[in-house]
Order: sequence, then structure tokens, then C-alpha cells
Amino acid sequence: MMRFSGKTVYKGIQMGPVLVLKGNDSQVKRDKIQDADAEVERVGHAVEKAQQQLKKLYDKAVKEVGETSAAIFEVHQMMLEDEDYLDAIHNMIRTEMVNAEYAVAVTGDNFSEMFAGMDDDYMKARAADIRDISNRLVQNLQGKEDIDLNSSEPAIIVAEDLSPSETVQMDKEKILAFVTVHGSSNSHTAILARMMNIPALIGVPMDLDAIQSGMTAVVDGFKGEVIFEPDERECEAAKKRMEEEQEKLQLLQSLKGKENITLDGKKINIFANIGSVGDVGYVLENDAGGIGLFRSEFLYLGRDSFPAEEEQFQAYKQVVQMMAGKKVIIRTLDIGADKQVEYFNLGKEDNPAMGYRAIRICLKQSEIFRTQLRALFRAAVFGNLSVMYPMITSVEEVQKIYEIVDSVKAELDGDGVPYKVPEQGIMIETPAAVMISDELAELVDFFSIGTNDLTQYTLAIDRQNEKLDEFYNAHHKAILRMIRMTVENAHKAGKWAGICGELGADPELTREFVRMGVDELSVAPSMVLRLRKAVREMKTED
Ligand code: PEP
Ligand code: MG
Repeated sequence: MMRFSGKTVYKGIQMGPVLVLKGNDSQVKRDKIQDADAEVERVGHAVEKAQQQLKKLYDKAVKEVGETSAAIFEVHQMMLEDEDYLDAIHNMIRTEMVNAEYAVAVTGDNFSEMFAGMDDDYMKARAADIRDISNRLVQNLQGKEDIDLNSSEPAIIVAEDLSPSETVQMDKEKILAFVTVHGSSNSHTAILARMMNIPALIGVPMDLDAIQSGMTAVVDGFKGEVIFEPDERECEAAKKRMEEEQEKLQLLQSLKGKENITLDGKKINIFANIGSVGDVGYVLENDAGGIGLFRSEFLYLGRDSFPAEEEQFQAYKQVVQMMAGKKVIIRTLDIGADKQVEYFNLGKEDNPAMGYRAIRICLKQSEIFRTQLRALFRAAVFGNLSVMYPMITSVEEVQKIYEIVDSVKAELDGDGVPYKVPEQGIMIETPAAVMISDELAELVDFFSIGTNDLTQYTLAIDRQNEKLDEFYNAHHKAILRMIRMTVENAHKAGKWAGICGELGADPELTREFVRMGVDELSVAPSMVLRLRKAVREMKTED
């Protein structure tokens, strides 16, 4: 029995088999070799294995997402047959007498740099594919398994760390819990865990070499503890706790269909946050009044090229149709910082959280933005859709957005495509936006306060830096005053203001938020009924 403590990201208790995920970005060492033929043969076996893996991935993707999206796996298979690429690897092994892993990694880097430097956009995008197939070959050479969650039974995922793109690709039905060595509680991986309703622990000081896939574990998010190979007593205790939790959840079910109204009659909207079309099921299941934040950037993660207008349109349309008239607020692309996507070729930055992200990318690379706006405006015809822009710091940014919106409208008119320009709001998640919220309120239809970034920028605490979790005071007076100021300025201009950051789900603050006049709280679907309970049991006046 091995017991470790960590920080809880989502409370809950689970027991089941462990699946250890080893990252594929492990260091590749340069080794001198004696037998070049043997190394070349190893490359051959790795390529063969990669072809089989890609064939399997293709077949699965065709069934799940259709031929167009699956085509990328065919492209990868073709790339693995490319003679220039393979010759370069063989040549390096023979002339420098180096190991296959090193030759593949260096050749992969060289080729992807070459593609990234090309003028043609299609060729540029292939840089990420080359890196992908090279990583796959290195993994095969190192004997690491390509873990296919979909063919395995539901498991507790144990890893060094997980990036948002790794997390987003996982089949949620197959994950019982997450346990990671690193990670910060405000990261997007943590947010995804909350969204998926999955118990998660981070900062767990475990030695991954001592933990094997197939072991049993109990993850207790209430105690912030994970036990590997628990004894019979621990297993019994965990089963009992799981039953108790189930009962509490059942009790919350009785609140479905009820209003979010305090004992003294004040109402508030409780909406849900989502990251994909697949999450709408959780929203409906938990009886949220609408979707207050659809993080659309997740459509761009975990893939090799930009989602086309049609693909985005279908996704947005599906969400508004499934919500059948209830409000759906879709946030435009917020890529950058911890949400990195190779095909954007954003480059390395010293300070990514304060760098090239979100609306800044959209305003500078407006083609990407225009495609998304076209898809959103077309989807707005099919339901109650609102658009929201992230990371706003100035009036000028909003004006530039409106110029782009106008030209997208003109283009859609010219194309004769049905569309509607929906309600447009902004996220208030920088101190600058709070301070000029009186001016911004005149320009937009609503505010949604992003407390995750607002806290990071106000307290000067990188939300990704796990060392700073102890300094991260989510209840800091400065943040609460900023929320109050934003709400007051919105109301003065006759607009509404909500909170869609994680703080909105903190039941200790629900009363304060209601008293401040916050109009909407948008939270992880699993928190909707808990907040409804808190609202229904409180009075705004003492
Ligand atoms: C926020 O910053 O509070 C927010 C909701 O956006 P994200 O967490 O996606 O940055
Ligand atoms: Mg944010």
C-alpha cells in the first residue's frame, strides 16, 4: 500500500485500475553505435509499427468524426513513406554512427523547421505533422506504448503532468480520476477536470517508476489523498464513501426544475461552462439555465490544422440547437499561454501569460478570427447565441473588433449566406478592463468576469506556477472590489454582468455575489445544482 497526499482540484472519490501515462516528450540522448545496419533496421520496425498504429487511428476516427477529419492520419501514413525523410534518417545513422532515436529526432526537427519556413500555408502546417510522426517513431523506438484509452476499461490516469491538449483528446467516459505529480490548481487541465466532474489531485509527490498500469488505486478528493494497492479495509471504506457521495448527488437531483431564488426572493442565473459539444449533455443533465462560457479554443486543440469554417459552424449550431432556445455564450478563440497549438506557430515567449494570446492573436491574424466569426454568425440563426471576446484591455480593441465584424457582415451579405449578428459581450479579466469598465459598458451588450485571469494579473501570480498556489488568494479583497466595480459599471449602462471564472463556483462567496447584484454565475456543470442549493438556502439581508 502506498499513500500520497496532493492538492485537490475536484472533490470526489473513485476506486479503480491505474493507467500510467508517460509523456512523449522525453529527452532523446545521442549515443555512439557500432552497427549502423542494426539501427537502420530498428527504424524500419518503428515505421512499420507506426503505420499500423496510424491505420487503427484512421479507422477509429472515420467512425467517430468522419472521413474529412480522419484524413490527417492518412497524411501521416504517407509522410512515413517519404524517401527524403527516411533517407535523411538512414544517412545520419551511417555517417555519424548515432542511435536511431537521435537520428529521427534531429531529422524531424530539421524537416519541420524547413516546412515552417515555407511561404505556402499548407506546407507550413505540415511542420507540426512532421514533428508528430517523428515523436511517434521515437516513442516506438523507445518501446513506449501508444496508449489507446478507448480500448481500455475506465481507469485512474496517473501522469507527470497533462497539457490541455492531451486532456481534451481523452475519452471522458474512460477516466475515473486524474492524479499528477505537477500542475497548478488554476491551470486549464484542472478546469477540464472540474468540467468533466472527475476527481483530480495534483502536486502528488509519487515516483512514477514505482507505479504500474493495472494497479488498483483509491483517489479521495475530499482528503486530497491517493492510495495505490489499498488493503481490504481501505477498499471497504472507499466503497462506503462512494455510496454516500452518490446519495448526496441524488438529493441534489430534487432541485432540478427549481428556480435559483433566495429565501428573500432575489433571483440569479446559474449557467454552465463547457469546452466541447460533448459537454452539452452535462449541462442538460445538471439543469443549467444556459451556457455562460463555451471555451471555443478547445475546438482548435489536439489536432494538426485549423478547424474549417464549416466544421466550426456545425459545432456551434449543434450546441445552440441542443440548448433549444436557452442562452449559449461562445467565447472566441483564447489560444496562447498554456493552450499551445503547434500549427499556430506562436513561437517561444519568456512570459506567455502576458504574451501573444486570445484577442491579440485574433486582431493580428485576422483571417483566423474572420473564419470563426463567420461560423458564429451563421450558427446564430439557429438559436440563442451570444459572442464574447476574451482578454480585452482597451476601448480601441473593441472598436477594432467591430470593424472586423462589419467587414465579415459585408462578406456574408455578398455571399448571400443567412446569418445574424448576435449579442456581443466581453470578458473582464484584466485590471485595465475593470478600471475602464464604465467606458467599455457603453460599447458592449454584457460583461463576463474571468476571475482566473483577473486574479493572475491583479495579484501578479502566474496561474500555471504550482509554486505560487499558496500565495494565490482567490478571496483577495482587491478581486472582490473589482467584481463589485465591474457589476456597478455594467448596471449604470443598463447592461448585465456575470462571472465565468472558477471563483463563481465558490459557495462561500455566493451570498456576496448575489448581494453585489451579479446577474449570472457560470460554473462547471457539476456545480450548478450545488450553487442552486446554496442560493435557495440564503437570504441576501441578515
Ligand atoms: C478566466 O480567466 O477566468 C476565464 C474564464 O477564462 P480562462 O480560464 O479560459 O482563461
Ligand atoms: Mg481567461
